Amino acid sequence: MAFTTKKIVIIVACVVVVTAIALGTTLPLTVFKKKDEPWKGSDVLDEVPLIDTHNDLPYNLYNIENNILKNFNFDSDLKLNPRWQIDTSFTDLPRLRQGKLGGQFWVAYVSCSRNYKDAVERTIEQIDVIKRLVRKYPNDLMFVTEADQIMKAKEQGKIASLIEIEGGHSIDSRMSSLRLFYELGVRCMTITHNCNLPWADNNLVDGNENSPKRNLTEWGKKVILEMNRLGMIVDISHVSEGVMVDVLETSKAPVIFSHSSVYKLRNHTRNVKDHVLLKLKENNGVIMINFYSSFIKAESPATIYDVIKHINYVRDLIGPEHVGIGSDYDGVEEVPEGLEDVSKYPALFDLLAEEGNDWEPWSAEDLKKLAGLNLLRAFKAVEAVRDSMKTATIIDEPVPYEDVISANANAADCRTDINKYKPTEQLKREARAVELQGPEEF
Ligand SMILES: [Zn+2]
Repeated sequence: MAFTTKKIVIIVACVVVVTAIALGTTLPLTVFKKKDEPWKGSDVLDEVPLIDTHNDLPYNLYNIENNILKNFNFDSDLKLNPRWQIDTSFTDLPRLRQGKLGGQFWVAYVSCSRNYKDAVERTIEQIDVIKRLVRKYPNDLMFVTEADQIMKAKEQGKIASLIEIEGGHSIDSRMSSLRLFYELGVRCMTITHNCNLPWADNNLVDGNENSPKRNLTEWGKKVILEMNRLGMIVDISHVSEGVMVDVLETSKAPVIFSHSSVYKLRNHTRNVKDHVLLKLKENNGVIMINFYSSFIKAESPATIYDVIKHINYVRDLIGPEHVGIGSDYDGVEEVPEGLEDVSKYPALFDLLAEEGNDWEPWSAEDLKKLAGLNLLRAFKAVEAVRDSMKTATIIDEPVPYEDVISANANAADCRTDINKYKPTEQLKREARAVELQGPEEF
């Protein structure tokens, strides 16, 4: 009896072991793999969308393809395409997949040389080419205009694609352009590029002591409030220090720097000083770190470690809730070693979480914020302010005549009806003068 029991126990034990081995080999390997593999920083990119707030690919589409997409293959290695072998090309779909990108603000940028000329028309063309690009790749890109849709795109394995215009010259000092750009799907506007506007100064005035400063004019403040009312993200990369402060004091919603880095680490007027970063924290906004080598380090080439210094500096000064990624790929010609193109974001996240460096490793929770949750939070807050202003009056005052005329000798060129902008008092004076002199003879 005792012998039989022993035999049964052995048989049962054998069956259990064999079953366990069989199960072990038939269960999906990933179940075991995940447990064995050490946690990596880039794992968070599977859970939350990595959102980059600045990529200038559309400007390359204009320069290289003349905005004709018929023969443009985004789903190919553009490094092998002779036309795309230029210093400012870092983006194609295969590399975006490797880079685990979840959301992109594509920039409808037009040069400041269009200011007071055809900036509005050219901006429309750039918005159009972005929409056509998204339409051409429906399995990879999804056109998005609301914060919640970014998560939906992520769930479907697509890159949420948003439109940003870079520089107020794109609206030609007209609220009507701003409002209709919103209707076309634009969800972010950088207040200036590298040129002054009748209502806002750009960063170059800070590098020039003799340059008169207007900062953000009264009408400029109205643009900010109109953006708040519409639900368009206010972006203060590229503006002067005075405008940064004025905007932060005016905006009812969080603002972003879509592609700027830290002034303390690299004293460039495109970067952000500590006192402004502290104000950004109060505003609950986000600075999206620019990878451009020249903004990261005075002596190039910069490396991925130098970019990490900028990211960590913001974290240590104002907290991990206020920093994100705004690479500026395709808008610059030199990027850091280790961040050579859009396939390299995961390397950055891995490194940030790694132990044994001279910085406190980032936790998974904080890396999710850096990747996209901070930007999503700011975007949702912008939407909440929009919703709270549903009954606010639409601002319909035109830009003041004096502001246009004093801004630039050519400032009236794009306005055939410039006289309508004159203040009523001035118009009355002119009418009286004509009455006294009698009609002009032709
Ligand atoms: Zn820029």
